[in-house]
Amino acid sequence: MRKQIAAANWKMNLTYQQGEKLLDEILGAEIELANHQLAIFAVPSPYLLMTRSEVEEESNYEVAAQNCHHKKSGAFTGEVSVEMLHSMNIKYCVIGHSERREYNGETNTMLADKVNLCLENFITPIFCCGEPLSIREAGTQNEFVATQLKESLFHLPAATIKNIVIAYEPIWAIGTGKTASTEQAQEIHQYLRSVIADQYSEAVANEIPILYGGSVKANNAKEIFACPDVDGGLVGGASLVAADFIEIIKALK
Ligand code: PEP
Repeated sequence: MRKQIAAANWKMNLTYQQGEKLLDEILGAEIELANHQLAIFAVPSPYLLMTRSEVEEESNYEVAAQNCHHKKSGAFTGEVSVEMLHSMNIKYCVIGHSERREYNGETNTMLADKVNLCLENFITPIFCCGEPLSIREAGTQNEFVATQLKESLFHLPAATIKNIVIAYEPIWAIGTGKTASTEQAQEIHQYLRSVIADQYSEAVANEIPILYGGSVKANNAKEIFACPDVDGGLVGGASLVAADFIEIIKALK
């Protein structure tokens, strides 16, 4: 079975102490994860080591960085390199979140560089894609997200792209309380899988987890995750509340 993943994206929220308390509460729930299930915490960079040590003893709980720089190293004050993450034993990194695309001008080509650096450093990219409202209203969301995949991922050989996690996040659903319907989510996830199958093979497409992101909550996670091509979620707001994220983890297939 494909990996089923509940990934928390804390964004720029919580103090260090609040973050520690939240992790203690979630891990304290002692949710038994099956081999194919994974809970990941994408935390602010200064909390990476603390989070890594919190989850160290737990099976199937992992830590992710929320971003990395697209250059290997150099005079980029304030940035975090992939090599740094690797040296801290961080195994996942969110790449191309729509907030970074919008506020930091991240382009598909820049994201391809980040993906390459992550893979060279044994870090799994959680690659975000998704359309703005105007594109959804124009009905061209499939072409839009397919281009994001093509320009940032499809240079990879089949053996490598299998190591990617994709998160489909319609921008109009992020932090808005507006969730894509299960039909909308399933339809575009299935489409993305078919695009990957056309480029590579069905076998490759069937191995890649595709998470849904956009106002996933404790009360809708089960229904969304039940869609055959949805392999869990990337969760912002609801991942900041222990009781809610616990329910979301429990909703994994
Ligand atoms: C996100 O940050 O990726 C996200 C999906 O946020 P929210 O769950 O708050 O919509």
